[in-house]
Amino acid sequence: MSVQYLGQTVDHNTEFETVIGLEVHVQLATDSKIFSSAKSRLTLGESVSEESVNANTTEVCAGHPGTLPALNEKAVDYAIRAGLATNCKINLKSVFSRKHYFYADLPKGYQISQFDLPLCEHGFLDIELGEQGEVTKKIGITRIHMEEDAGKSVHEHGFSLVNLNRAGTPLVEVVSEPDMRSPEEAGAYLRKLYAIVTCLGICDGNLQEGNFRCDANVSVRPKGVTKFGTRAEIKNVNSFRFVEKAIEYEAERQRQVILSGDHLVQETRLYDSQKNQTYTMRAKEEAEDYRYFPDPDLLPLVLESSQVESIRASLPELPDQMRDRFMKEYALTRYDAGLITSNQSIARFFEESVSIADGRSLAKTVANLLIGEAGRLLNEAAVSIVESKFRPEHFSDLARLILDKTISVTAAKQVVIILWQEGGEVSLIVDREGLRQVNDLSALEPIIQKIIDDNPKQVEEFRAGKDKVIGFFVGQAMKATQGKANPAMLQELVIQKLKG
Ligand code: ADP
Ligand code: MG
Repeated sequence: MSVQYLGQTVDHNTEFETVIGLEVHVQLATDSKIFSSAKSRLTLGESVSEESVNANTTEVCAGHPGTLPALNEKAVDYAIRAGLATNCKINLKSVFSRKHYFYADLPKGYQISQFDLPLCEHGFLDIELGEQGEVTKKIGITRIHMEEDAGKSVHEHGFSLVNLNRAGTPLVEVVSEPDMRSPEEAGAYLRKLYAIVTCLGICDGNLQEGNFRCDANVSVRPKGVTKFGTRAEIKNVNSFRFVEKAIEYEAERQRQVILSGDHLVQETRLYDSQKNQTYTMRAKEEAEDYRYFPDPDLLPLVLESSQVESIRASLPELPDQMRDRFMKEYALTRYDAGLITSNQSIARFFEESVSIADGRSLAKTVANLLIGEAGRLLNEAAVSIVESKFRPEHFSDLARLILDKTISVTAAKQVVIILWQEGGEVSLIVDREGLRQVNDLSALEPIIQKIIDDNPKQVEEFRAGKDKVIGFFVGQAMKATQGKANPAMLQELVIQKLKG
């Protein structure tokens, strides 16, 4: 069956393209809220207890009549940093507006946001694509505006409760152009934006707590068509992996709706990560529904260009710059340098590791360990490296032992797992676990000789030109040495013996 979509005849053979634009809410790491002196975040180590519910609120957060908002200067400073680091133009005049809607966690009946005059506009980000990150693509950033967060409603035991601790928390919303064409591109964009805001120090970056959350706008169209299709907005996904999966699911769902001849409706959807499905939340509201108007309680935000320039001058080295420096300074590949610098705490940790006892020559090996086994453990546990038992000297010690062939890479991975679990000292663990490689020819020779004597059939095969059996002998010898033999040395010795 063929149907019409965007003026084209489409059927099951039509190749579709996904179009994605992302809106990311970044929670700014200021001490107080955006318009009130209430505490904005728990300090590190503090936990949320029953008693702390609604503790971080003032009359402003609770929307009491007669209270007035006062803009937090630090939040403005942070928002400008976000704009500069994403190549935006900073508007010297921007305006706070009221966005009206009713919900129990929004006592004022409106959210203060920026509408027609946002603080930052016309920026872009470079993302890296391809197996080795060799392709660069520019993703446009439409605008970055400042706004306040709403509170939280909790529905339990037949009651609905409101916690206003989050009400008035400062946010920037980073709105991208619909420039992305695949879940991978969306993931790369999010990871890059995340790396930037955490590197700037303007966001704590705790994904579980919603410090960085994303609405994904998704539409599909037949490849080659320039018009955009009808989009769905998937709300509040706070894991990069889930955003990718939600987009993948949603694009396929839309394709099927189109092919079935049904109409796509513009709507807001939610993603259920357990079922890996999106479902309808509500029909999409339009700007008119919110009755935006400039908030009469707040003056327009007017900046001097000298203020903006002094902030620009104080920006730290950004992830892309750091990646390029790591490539030059430590001879890392673009890909490895990109991975290391996509996480600020890992990047700093890496530099500390290789600065120990002039460990520059260890850089590649340290990077491999951090990206590989250590990275996997950290990701799985969603723990920052600074909160883990890993120490920079662990990795420089390990890299040294790998490079001077004291331990194999496989053994090093074992040590990483032990360090992860219990910390400790590398050389002690290597000894305790008996991981030192046998590099001693005279120790390996008799072992290999015995295997050759015991396996005449495989020796025949080798003589008949089957080089593959070398692997068999190396494997057997590895087993006999409990994985402690130096593999390169083993291989060489096996060939020598078989030929000799
Ligand atoms: P809102 O969702 O607040 O109404 P906008 O009109 O500014 O806001 O669009 C929000 C996002 O939707 C932007 O990131 C934009 O790139 C993206 N977008 C717009 N049209 C499409 C489309 N047809 N397909 C995918 N994304 C789109
Ligand atoms: Mg939106």
